[in-house]
Amino acid sequence: MINIMELLRSISIDREAIELSIEYGISPYMAKRYIELFSYKGAISFLNTIRLGLKKSIRCNTLKISCNELLRKIKDRMVVKQTPWVPYGFWILKSKVNIGATPEYLLGYYYIQGVASMLPPLILNPKPGERVLDMCAAPGGKTTQLAQIMENKGSILALDVDRTRMRALRSNISRLGVRNVVTLLLDARKIVGVGEKFDKVLVDAPCTGEGLLPLIPERGRSRSLYDMYVLMKLQYELLKSAILVTKKGGVIVYSTCSIAPEENEFIVNLILKEYSGKIELVDISFYGEKGLTEIYGLKLNSELERCLRLYPHIHRTEGFFICKLRKKV
Ligand code: SAM
Repeated sequence: MINIMELLRSISIDREAIELSIEYGISPYMAKRYIELFSYKGAISFLNTIRLGLKKSIRCNTLKISCNELLRKIKDRMVVKQTPWVPYGFWILKSKVNIGATPEYLLGYYYIQGVASMLPPLILNPKPGERVLDMCAAPGGKTTQLAQIMENKGSILALDVDRTRMRALRSNISRLGVRNVVTLLLDARKIVGVGEKFDKVLVDAPCTGEGLLPLIPERGRSRSLYDMYVLMKLQYELLKSAILVTKKGGVIVYSTCSIAPEENEFIVNLILKEYSGKIELVDISFYGEKGLTEIYGLKLNSELERCLRLYPHIHRTEGFFICKLRKKV
């Protein structure tokens, strides 16, 4: 495991980083890393987007209603625009009402979900009839989207370790009319003990949420380096468990709502090294930036460019990282 403390000690926090941290109310270690990631000008553009926030978006739940019918029902209260990547994803341009309290929301005709957050299920692309594992599932945005893609056929085992969030997952499953999900309150690192293998596995890992800064600006101060270190260990262990329970030829999607290389490329880089010849990265041909192959002066596996990065200031979505792995043997 890369020692994050050592790594970040080598990235000295200079005057530029201190100034940005004061100006934008974020921790100095974050400011310094954004300069490394985007250059100084890019860091300013990224941080300005945090101030502007992001447009809300909804996912039409085709398990209950067609998108045309939904749009017809809400058109007197909301102005929406279809997203270019997800045919059933819509930005809310204007709304006269609270989008989380409409009859259509309560009836499960749509789910409030960031556009980038709709991509991991789309990229995992489960087929009706397959056996799918969603390792970090609550509150269920992606679980219910997986069920939608699978047309409620096949099976999804949805795990989470947090009892309160698990309640939200079960309530969303019921509201959205999902019928092919079994939920289990379990630390996903223990999934091997269940003795099942899966065609497709989603690891939407717990993370610092640095990609959600435009929506939750407090994250710019509330997370420490130590938090990141603890999360990195967890992310690595979750991904290793995912590999163990994936069938030969099966696919794993690893995603985070973080733009931190430490929680993304560093984790996958380590996995590629450890499972050399057994795991390969599959190209994600989606609108977005490629994964990083070099950062903080460190060279990473060149295959990592097959991953996908999305940024608030460039793609107008939450910051997200997605990669797709295939288990060869
Ligand atoms: N996939 C969810 C969605 O689309 O709505 C969001 C998942 S959120 C990024 C990460 C989740 O991982 C949290 O709900 C958290 O409780 C859960 N989690 C953290 N550690 C876990 C573990 N060891 N096993 C299973 N779930 C875990």
